[in-house]
Amino acid sequence: MEKRKVYMDYAATTPMKKEVLDAMMPYYTELFGNASSIHCFGREVKSALETAREEVAKLINANTSEIYFTAGGTEADNWAIKGYAFANKERGNHIITTKIEHHAVLHTCEYLEKYHGFEVTYLDVDKDGIVDLKQLRESIKDTTILISVMFANNEIGTIQPIKEIAQIAKEKGIAFHTDAVQAVGNVKVDVKELDIDLMAMSSHKIYGPKGVGALYVKKGIKLHPLVHGGAQEKKRRAGTENIAGIVGFGKAAQIARINLDNHIEKLTSLREKLINGVLDKIPYTRLNGHRTNRLPGNANFSFEFIEGEALLLSLDMLGIAGSSGSACTSGSLDPSHVLMAIGLSHEIAHGSLRLSLGDMNTEEDVDYVLDNLPKIVERLRMMSPLYEKVTKGG
Ligand code: PMP
Repeated sequence: MEKRKVYMDYAATTPMKKEVLDAMMPYYTELFGNASSIHCFGREVKSALETAREEVAKLINANTSEIYFTAGGTEADNWAIKGYAFANKERGNHIITTKIEHHAVLHTCEYLEKYHGFEVTYLDVDKDGIVDLKQLRESIKDTTILISVMFANNEIGTIQPIKEIAQIAKEKGIAFHTDAVQAVGNVKVDVKELDIDLMAMSSHKIYGPKGVGALYVKKGIKLHPLVHGGAQEKKRRAGTENIAGIVGFGKAAQIARINLDNHIEKLTSLREKLINGVLDKIPYTRLNGHRTNRLPGNANFSFEFIEGEALLLSLDMLGIAGSSGSACTSGSLDPSHVLMAIGLSHEIAHGSLRLSLGDMNTEEDVDYVLDNLPKIVERLRMMSPLYEKVTKGG
C-alpha cells in the first residue's frame, strides 16, 4: 500500500472548513469596525456577532442571550468554575468534579483550593471512565455549590450520564457545569433537555478557528466576570471581541448542526471498523473507554509491552498522526491521569494510542492504519524482553 498522509488527531484540533474561512475573511479587511461603535461600521460587525451567537445557541438549543463568547474552551471552563465559585461563596465552599477532567477544569479547581479556601472532591470513575452516581450523591454536602463533570472525555471518549448528573444537582439546588468541548458538534447536546447551567465549548474542535469558544450561562445563574474591562458580552466578559473568529465559530456551528446526523453516522462506522480491526489483528490490546457509549470518532488503545512515544514516532514516519496517552500531560513522560483513573498500570498506560477520527477520514485511511499498525506494534514488541518471555515462554 502506498504511503498516505492520515490525520487521526481530530480530538486535538480540526482543520477549518473552507466555508468557515470564507465567512471570516471580510471581517479582517472591509468589515473591520468595532462592535461597540454606534456608527454603521460598528453596526455591521455587531450584527455579524449576533448572528454567530444565534448559530452557537441553535447548536445546543440555548437562548441566544445565554451565549457568551470567550477565547476558547480553557477560558470558558476557567470562567464557569471561578466565576460561579466567587459569586456564590457565601452559600458554600465545596465543589465536586472528577479525576478525569481536562486540566482546564482540574487546575482551576486546584487553584481555588490553594488560594481561595475552596474544598474540592475529585470523583473516581469506573474502568470504562464513567462517574459513579452513588459516589456523587454521597459526596454532596450542605456546602456544595457546584458540580463540574465533563460531557465527553478528550482521551478515551467516554460520554457521561449528563442528564442524571444534572438531575442530582438540581434536586440539591447545586449548579451544574459541564466541559462539553469534545461533545458539542460530535453528539447531540441540548442544554434545555439536559438541564445544564453552565457549559464550555470550543470552536477549533468543530472545524472552526482556534482561540475562540463560548460559555453557555443559563438565565439567572450568578457569575462573576473573569475578564474585567469594557461592556462587551453584557459586561460579563470584557474586551473587544475576536469578530472574525466568532463569525467563523458561528459558521462552523451552523455546519455542525446541519450535518450532525451524517457526521455521527459516518464517524461511528469508521470508528467501529478501526476498533474491530485493531482488536482483531493485534493481541494483548485493550480498548480504553466505554465500548459503545463514546464519542463517534474516538478510539483509544493500550498495547502491552510497548512505549506510546515510540509507537507515535513510527506511525508518524508512515504519515499517520495520532496522539499518545501522555499527550495531555504536556511533554511529560508521565502516563495520563485519565488512563490512571480508569485503572491502567503505569506500564500499560505508557503504551497507549488515541486515534480520533473526523470529517476528512475515509475507509482507505482506516485500511492504511489497519495495514500498518499491527506491523509496527509487532516490531516494537520484539524489543521487549517481557514480550519474548510471554510469547516464547522463555
Ligand atoms: N476541555 C477539553 C475536554 C478539551 O479537549 C480541550 C482541548 N484539548 C479543552 C477543554 C480546551 O479547549 P481550548 O483548546 O479551546 O482552550
